[in-house]
Amino acid sequence: MANKLATSLLAACFAAAVLLALAAPAVLAGDPDMLQDICVADYKSLKGPLRLNGFPCKRPENVTANDFLSNVLATPGNTGNAVGSAVTSANVEKLPGLNTLGVSVSRIDYAPWGVNPPHVHPRATEVIFVLQGSLDVGFVTTANRLYAGTVCAGEVFVFPRGLVHYQRNNGGGPAAVLSAFDSQLPGTQPVAEALFGASPPVPTDVLARSFQVDGGVVEAIKSKIPPK
Ligand code: MN
Repeated sequence: MANKLATSLLAACFAAAVLLALAAPAVLAGDPDMLQDICVADYKSLKGPLRLNGFPCKRPENVTANDFLSNVLATPGNTGNAVGSAVTSANVEKLPGLNTLGVSVSRIDYAPWGVNPPHVHPRATEVIFVLQGSLDVGFVTTANRLYAGTVCAGEVFVFPRGLVHYQRNNGGGPAAVLSAFDSQLPGTQPVAEALFGASPPVPTDVLARSFQVDGGVVEAIKSKIPPK
């Protein structure tokens, strides 16, 4: 009797494990689902000993409509830099009402021929909507295939989660896009900065061997990308 019970318990556990394994990828595909209507980020509590996955919630009595409002995207970013582009983000670090909601937006401004250099967002897929101008864009899959094209004002283009991608303004005038993300904090890792501007630095000989160039070339690139 006891043996039979143990066997059926084992079978039940196995079935539960299989179900969990099947369900897990769907559950983990984006930011975690919310468990309440709102959880406005309480930035002050960051100084406390606890750090959650996201921000702790403000007490509801302290929440106002302003927690859900921001003008951070109203002004074009300054594109007067080496690459000729600027990303301005309305993510959970700027807009506390986004906390736990799993979405955010950015604007990207481009000088003529400006580039948003190759980068990845580890936590989000990105959809750009071109507000002005036209762009050459592309992303590279893990099979190392490039999907590239031209997107014009009024069109959208999708960059799948975690894949290296870039945009370049292909015209003589300014360009701008609105970017939507399925994460409140997508994270951005520029490839060149990660490799050549890390702190402490990635060893020059590692990069020289990886790129099959001599150390002088690596040092020359490092000198242009100072650690932050
Ligand atoms: Mn991006």
